[in-house]
Amino acid sequence: MENYISTKLYNTLTKRLEPLLFSKEEKIGLYVCGPTVYSDPHIGHARSAVVFDLLVRYLRYLNYKVCYVRNITDVGHLTANQNENEEDKIIRSAKKEQILPMEVVQKYTLRYHDALEKLAVIPADIEPRASAHIPEQIAWIEKLIKKNYAYVVNGSVYFRSQKYRQKYANVTFFKQKIEKLTESEEKKIKNREKESPLDFALWKLAPPQHLMRWDSPWGVGFPGWHTECAVMASHYLGIPFYFHGGGHDLCFPHHECEIAQMHSHSNIAPVKHWIHHGLVLVNGVKISKSLANAVSLHNIFRGNHSTLRQAYNPMVVRYLILQSHYRKGMQFSNQALQIAKKGYEKLVNGWFYLLQNKPTGIINNTVPSTAIDRLLQITNSFSTILNSDLHTPKLFVAMFNLISNMRKMEKKNISIINLPVQIWEKIANNYIRFFQDILGFRIPKTPKMLNIALSWYQQAKKNKENSTIDRIRSLLQKENIHIEDRIKSDHSWRYSIT
Ligand SMILES: [Zn+2]
Repeated sequence: MENYISTKLYNTLTKRLEPLLFSKEEKIGLYVCGPTVYSDPHIGHARSAVVFDLLVRYLRYLNYKVCYVRNITDVGHLTANQNENEEDKIIRSAKKEQILPMEVVQKYTLRYHDALEKLAVIPADIEPRASAHIPEQIAWIEKLIKKNYAYVVNGSVYFRSQKYRQKYANVTFFKQKIEKLTESEEKKIKNREKESPLDFALWKLAPPQHLMRWDSPWGVGFPGWHTECAVMASHYLGIPFYFHGGGHDLCFPHHECEIAQMHSHSNIAPVKHWIHHGLVLVNGVKISKSLANAVSLHNIFRGNHSTLRQAYNPMVVRYLILQSHYRKGMQFSNQALQIAKKGYEKLVNGWFYLLQNKPTGIINNTVPSTAIDRLLQITNSFSTILNSDLHTPKLFVAMFNLISNMRKMEKKNISIINLPVQIWEKIANNYIRFFQDILGFRIPKTPKMLNIALSWYQQAKKNKENSTIDRIRSLLQKENIHIEDRIKSDHSWRYSIT
C-alpha cells in the first residue's frame, strides 16, 4: 500500500473525507467545468482555476500522473430553468458588440487564458471546446434515445429523468432538491414538450433567431450544457474517471444531470470523487449571473474599479483565493485584498529571510538541537497539512510560524546562519518548493529580490559552489531573469529582465 497516496480529500458525493486510492503508475483523470466565454473573466473564474491548479500541482509534486481536462463552453447554455425564448449569453454579447458569436468566444477565451497566465495557473492538458464536439454529442444522444433514456419532441431531445431515477435512485446528490425543482418548475416552466418537469434538454431545436446552430438527426439545433460536459469528460477520460470538479453552485442541476447521463449511457457509476469549491462573495454578495457585481480580473490587476483603492498584483489575488479553505465561501473586497497583500508580502519576506541567512559553514554559536527539531517539525508539517483536504490557510500559518520561530531565535542570539548547512538546505528548499511549485506563487521582481538573489549569486561564485550557482540561475530563469557573467575572471554580473 506504500504506493498509495496519504492525502485525504472531501468527496461531495459521499459527504466524507476520503483517502485517494490510486497508484503512481495510473493516469488520473480530472475534469473541471470551465467558463462560458461571453465576457471578461472574474474572481469566480479565478477561484476555480487556482483551486484545481493547486490540486494538480500537489498531485504532480507527489509524483502522480494527472490528465487535467477543463472545457470551454462556447455554445449556448441551456439550463433547467432557462426560459426557452431567452437568448443565450454568447449571442447576447455578439449582438451587443456587433461581432460574430465565434468572435465573442475567441475574444474571451484569450482574455481568460491571459488572466490565468497572470495568476500563474498551469494550462490544462486538454481544453476541449463544446462546438468542436458536436458529432460526439449527437452520437451520445442517439445512444440514450436507443436505450429509452431520452425522447424526441418537435426537434428537441429530452432526458427521461424518471426512468433514470427508478433505476439508480440511490446515486444522486440532491434528491430533495429534485422534489423542490418539480414543484417550482411546474409553476414556472411553460414547456409542455417534456414528459416530466424533471426532464432536461439534451438537444434543443434552434429558433430562427438562434445564431449558433448545427444539423442533427432531429433538425437544426444546439446541444444542452449538461450534455457537453458529460460527453467531453467521457470522451477524453473514459468512464469511470477519478475526479470531477467545479464550483459548489454546479452540483445541481448541472452535475446531477451529468451523472444521470453518464450513468445511464455506460451503466457504470461515472466518477469516483467529486470536488466542489465554495463560492465567492463580492462585498458580501454572491456574484450575480448578470455580472452586475463581478469585478473582472483585468480590472483588479489594473485597479480599475470603483470599489478598489489600488491595482493588485495577480499573486495577491492568488493568495486571497488560497487563504480561504477551498470548500468555504470566499470574501472578495478591497479590504480582503489589502489583508491578502500583507499575507503575500509576509510569505515573500520569509523567502527573502531564508536566502539572506544561508549558513556559511562557519559556526559561531551552535543552534540547540531542540530548536533544530522544532524547525524541522514545522517544515515536515507542510505536507501533512495539505494532505488533510488541501488546507492552505493552515499551511500559510505554518509557513509564517517557521519564519517567526527563526526570528525569535535571533532574539536569543542564535541565528539560523549557524545552522548546519544540510539542515538549512532542507528547510529552505522545502519552503521554496511549497511557495513556488505547490502554492504556485511567483517571486515579485523587486529591486530587493534582485539584490538578495544577486548577492547570493556573487557569494556562491566566490566560493565556487557550482550547484548553488545553478540553482540560483534556474530559480531566476523561471522568472525570465537571466544572469550572465560579464568577465569570467572577476565576479561581476549583469542581469536582464525580459
Ligand atoms: Zn460542466
